[in-house]
Amino acid sequence: MPTSILVVDDETPLESLMRQRFRHKIEDGTYTFRFAFSGKEALAAIEADAAIDVVLLDINMPDMSGLTLLNHLAEQLPTSRAVMVSAYGDMNNIRTAMNRGAFDFVTKPINYKDLELTIEKTARHVAQLREAVRVKAVADLKARFFDNITHEFRTPLTLIIAPTESLLQKHRSDEHSRRSLTTIRRNAHNLLHLINQLLDLARLEADSLPVTESRVNVLTFVRHMVDSFQEVARQKTIQLDLDTDGTAPDMAFDVDKWQKILANLLSNALKFTPPGGRVTLSLQTTPATVRIAVSDTGIGIAAEHLPHIFDRFYQVDSSLIRTYEGSGIGLALTHELTQLLGGQLTVSSRPGMGTTFTIELPARPASAHEPAADLRLSALESVPVLSQPEALPPTGDSELPLLLLVEDNAELLAFLAESLAGSFRVLTAPNGEEGLALAQRELPDIVVSDVMMPLMTGYQLTKALKTNPVTNHIAVVLLTARTTPENRHEGLSQGADDYLSKPFDLDELRLRLRNIIAHQQALRDYYSQQLGNPTVVSPTAPADAFLQTLYSFMEQHLDNSDLRAELLADEVAMSPRSLARKLNTLLGVSPARLIRQYRLLRATEMLRAGRPITETAYLVGFEHPANFTTAFKEIYHLTPSEFVANGRPETLPKS
Ligand code: ADP
Repeated sequence: MPTSILVVDDETPLESLMRQRFRHKIEDGTYTFRFAFSGKEALAAIEADAAIDVVLLDINMPDMSGLTLLNHLAEQLPTSRAVMVSAYGDMNNIRTAMNRGAFDFVTKPINYKDLELTIEKTARHVAQLREAVRVKAVADLKARFFDNITHEFRTPLTLIIAPTESLLQKHRSDEHSRRSLTTIRRNAHNLLHLINQLLDLARLEADSLPVTESRVNVLTFVRHMVDSFQEVARQKTIQLDLDTDGTAPDMAFDVDKWQKILANLLSNALKFTPPGGRVTLSLQTTPATVRIAVSDTGIGIAAEHLPHIFDRFYQVDSSLIRTYEGSGIGLALTHELTQLLGGQLTVSSRPGMGTTFTIELPARPASAHEPAADLRLSALESVPVLSQPEALPPTGDSELPLLLLVEDNAELLAFLAESLAGSFRVLTAPNGEEGLALAQRELPDIVVSDVMMPLMTGYQLTKALKTNPVTNHIAVVLLTARTTPENRHEGLSQGADDYLSKPFDLDELRLRLRNIIAHQQALRDYYSQQLGNPTVVSPTAPADAFLQTLYSFMEQHLDNSDLRAELLADEVAMSPRSLARKLNTLLGVSPARLIRQYRLLRATEMLRAGRPITETAYLVGFEHPANFTTAFKEIYHLTPSEFVANGRPETLPKS
């Protein structure tokens, strides 16, 4: 873009002189010139073409002085700048021009080298000015957009919260409704809180967050804040104390912003402090400042993270397996709000010992006639709701399939457990590690797991389950907020049987679980039919590798009457109990029963091949032929001799 220069001077020969001196700049497109020989002509030129960067302005002109024109320029070309051109002795007028906003001046006779440098400097300044204006416009636009969109969110959220409240009133006594409605209410509040924070950040960025002061008793104020968090503290068994210097002055400050600041610090302290710990808010006031420290005995923050924790969206632990949920907005907002109020926020922390955040905020003593703030009104939205749902571990009918839910969001976990309790016996685990331990111990039919979890991700859990012969038959369904095809692929390649992205439809989850159970049942029917049906060619090569191992081991020990469940379990390196659970899932039989059925199935083959009954009994591990006959009859409803006499029955009754 060339620099566009308007020269305003009543000396007409100046035009050819300028064009001559700046010939190269004009030819290579660096400068474009426009000339006006009076104030009037200048105004006309400005009106015709607002794209003027630099105005070279003579002070002494007959129709309108350059000083008068300057006033018009400020209005009509607010992002252009004027350089005054005047006689050396005209210092008074030059001073006046500078005071009216002229950017610089040069003296006549003009030193063209110096003029060129001045034009360049002015053009640079104009460019910066316009960039700043542009940035501000974009920020305004963004803030307006955020404002609009946030209101679009707030309205429906309000329309969720309000009817939920009235339903809660109505259904207080119905435990199930109360629980669901409480979940809705808490989460709608959380969402509202998050949206409010985003809105504040956007407004801070656009400098459009006004400071509104009202009169509040400082002690009443902090006590109110601490009280708002007592319930959360109690639920987490954290002791929350208020420590004051005893003074309780009425002061004027922006209550809403102070509330947001303290709410963030308190909720972080409670969030990052394990049960049994302690959080203390201490207050000290001087006539001009209020100093509040929030200290906790929590996990602390390592020195290398401390410089960054006030950055937007920064989280010390942002890994998939982090223990604490969050957005990284809270502290950034707290910091920026503190700055807006002219205060200071500092932090000191020792990992494993605890953290103290200290704010020092200016406040002035309030006079009695200033409007008093209503603390109750604004508190609700600025207090983030820490998820503290009432978890209940539902169990069901022992005939139902066993389902393990692994999910770190306690509320979602409780909700899923409750919703699925009708069709499953439900076990729950709050993270991958506990989930894996529980899966290995209880061998559920299905594991439904979140992907992002503390200690161990859903992917790692899936892999651990699927690569262990004890657990590889367990179906795994992953639930995740990460929905890219890569994530899906990652989950499925670790062996997950199904994949649902959040937010998911509960009915769809139910349906998919039902399909998995039906599939498992079909397999179970298939295998047990093979085992119980002597017309099946050979049971020794089942598709399942695990069963194959068991079958070939039983084949090797067929005539060993000491072959028992324990030996079988040893062979596959499982505890007898785990083997029993796994066989029950795969075949619906106990290990002892499997051994017996296998012996008898092989016996039918031998009898059909013409072996004598007694010999067959020994060969398949029965020490007493009488026991053999009893067992045979129990399964096939025929004695061995009837079986031989009947020849080859097409089918036999299933066990
Ligand atoms: P969020 O809590 O949503 O992740 P914040 O901006 O409130 O975001 O906090 C940023 C990070 O600072 C947190 O993720 C956490 O790692 C750390 N942090 C904040 N407060 C504390 C605290 N009291 N104790 C330990 N760590 C903290």
